[in-house]
Amino acid sequence: MQYQDLIQLGNEFGTPLYVYDAEKIISQYHRLTKAFYKIERFKIHYAVKALSNISILKLIKNQGIGLDTVSIEEVRLGLYAGFYPKDIIYTPNGVSIQELEAVAAMGVQINIDNLSILEQFGTKHSQVPVCIRINPHVMAGGNANISVGHIDSKFGISIHQLPHILRIIENTNMHINGIHMHTGSDILDVDVFLYAAEILFETAKHFTSLDFIDFGSGFKVSYKKGDVETNVEEFGRKLTKRFLAFEKEYGRTLTLVFEPGKFLVSEAGVFLAKVNVVKQTTSTVFAGIDSGFNHLIRPMFYGSEHFIENISNPKGKERYYSIVGYICETDTFANNRRIQEIHEGDVLCFRNAGAYCFSMSSNYNSRIKPAEVLWLNGKGHLIRERETFEDILRNQVEIEI
Ligand SMILES: *Cc1c(COP(=O)(O)O)cnc(C)c1O
Repeated sequence: MQYQDLIQLGNEFGTPLYVYDAEKIISQYHRLTKAFYKIERFKIHYAVKALSNISILKLIKNQGIGLDTVSIEEVRLGLYAGFYPKDIIYTPNGVSIQELEAVAAMGVQINIDNLSILEQFGTKHSQVPVCIRINPHVMAGGNANISVGHIDSKFGISIHQLPHILRIIENTNMHINGIHMHTGSDILDVDVFLYAAEILFETAKHFTSLDFIDFGSGFKVSYKKGDVETNVEEFGRKLTKRFLAFEKEYGRTLTLVFEPGKFLVSEAGVFLAKVNVVKQTTSTVFAGIDSGFNHLIRPMFYGSEHFIENISNPKGKERYYSIVGYICETDTFANNRRIQEIHEGDVLCFRNAGAYCFSMSSNYNSRIKPAEVLWLNGKGHLIRERETFEDILRNQVEIEI
């Protein structure tokens, strides 16, 4: 997608607008499969929560990718998009046993992450194969909000509770077909991840009839120039070597599973927003856009730095701006950032807007959610309409007062 294409899409579909490049999603998938080409049974399950539009799910399905889901609604979205239940993994946290049972009844692979539900589920449904989510207590990345493997994390069953897990399995005679970990969102150091993988291999030896080992995700992508990202090729080489050795030791072939969300869709997406006002104050120049954390919350929520360009003036001289939203609360996208000179009416392009952007959007300030467009075969296809005021009223019940 060239600047001209983006400007044209902004004119055609209006702003604010999310645009996703199908080709980029596919090429990211190929990069991953290539890095693990030596693994006989290699399977990617896309984490739906990153970007859950039905058309994106269909694109994912056409590549032969499975799904990783965290709610029964995501499972239903996947089935609606045409996925077979067997190609869906359900990895929830803190859900009711009823929801878990409902998803298992659909034929979806379930993943249990606490001892209480494991015991209850195993007692009632010992014949249903279950995957277990382990917390190896390895800190990947530096951000506590997105690191889920550390000691205080609510995710997974602690590796130190392995004896409890084994006792439950023995008592219920349940069938454990997979073992899983998802240590956090950013693998910056491949060796840290491999250390966690070693813990998972050690754990796996205690389960006699595994079918797969699921390493979750944590692939980091670049958000701005000079940003470090996961070295997928190095990671592929190193983990492949260890995985093949483990298979030998274990005595049977296993499926190696990953559940990337960000890696597949983050860089494929851009967010276009128009500048409503340029406001010079005594200390900074604000550019206020027709959006806010209601549409893209990552900068405020995680401190994420999304690269921002002025596509209306790509060759313009760079000046310092603070990019802010229209929400009545502080919503700063960028603080004193060098961006091509901005005029009111210009369209700014936020990079890496594919993952956790639209899917985290809300109607705060009673604002409507933006439209989504998929760029496919050199053309923009509307895949979600912009909301209308009626959507704000939907489900509200007016009573006599
Ligand atoms: C969110 C999540 C993922 C995807 O993480 P990314 O950082 O987007 O790749 C994978 N597995 C589970 C269980 C998750 O909750």
